[in-house]
Amino acid sequence: MRMTAILVSLGLAAVGLSSCSHVPERERPAGPAQPAPAAQRLPAPFAWPAGIRAAVSLSFDDARESQLDFGLPIFDAASIKATFYVSFASLKKRLPDWEAALKAGHEIGNHSVRHACTANFPFAKGRALEDYTLPQMEAELDEASAEIQMLLGVQPLTFAYPCGQKYVGRGRNVRSYVPAVAARYLAGRGWRDEAANDPALCDPAQLMCMELDGLTWEELRVLVEQAQKNGSWLVLCGHDIREEGRQTTRTDTLRSFCEYARDPKNGLWVDTVANVARYVVEQRTAAPRR
Ligand SMILES: [Zn+2]
Repeated sequence: MRMTAILVSLGLAAVGLSSCSHVPERERPAGPAQPAPAAQRLPAPFAWPAGIRAAVSLSFDDARESQLDFGLPIFDAASIKATFYVSFASLKKRLPDWEAALKAGHEIGNHSVRHACTANFPFAKGRALEDYTLPQMEAELDEASAEIQMLLGVQPLTFAYPCGQKYVGRGRNVRSYVPAVAARYLAGRGWRDEAANDPALCDPAQLMCMELDGLTWEELRVLVEQAQKNGSWLVLCGHDIREEGRQTTRTDTLRSFCEYARDPKNGLWVDTVANVARYVVEQRTAAPRR
């Protein structure tokens, strides 16, 4: 019995060996016979700067005044740079303050002219994505960039999809406007996505963005620690910045985050969407390191 069992197991081992011995030994690539899943998944080596475990970008939409009044003092005290995707009516109300934010190193990004979203939102009446065409959206992207250039003297480098929606038209005539964003900007940012970005694999024209509004520091810390564990780029998006409220990023959460981010042992790189996107793209296009 025992001999039979040994023979059977030897036979199985032989079958196993023969199934992976089609490639002669000398033609096999160097290294382990079965590459680790991570090695198969990553097309090229990717590394954050020395000492960095994850990147975080803080972004805020619609140029709300509370971002200037309650957000910027927190960011500036911590030397942290954020990205602001602006709406023009609000931008024009406090233009000198937005100019100062830009001079301080914060990013001003494109958020379209009319903030078109799905027709299902009552506020989108008369400017619904379902009624847009691609040429119309392309012209609007360019118009918004020209307006930012005219008002602030800079070309926006990144874009935030209003409502995170990336299409125009309806039914059989739906078209993605992601290619139009990819052709114009370093990055396009979504809204209310469910994960951080894998810097080796993400599509910069469709960056995932997790909601910052309403999070306590304990809740945000879970997302940050997940990003550190995975080496991700966590892009966060919010609207108003106050103690609390609807569509509001909490000031106490931001203060705690900034304190955590400033401690080098936490290995976080906090920077604008444009700065991190540029680094990611350059790392991925650089010759693989040995
Ligand atoms: Zn918006």
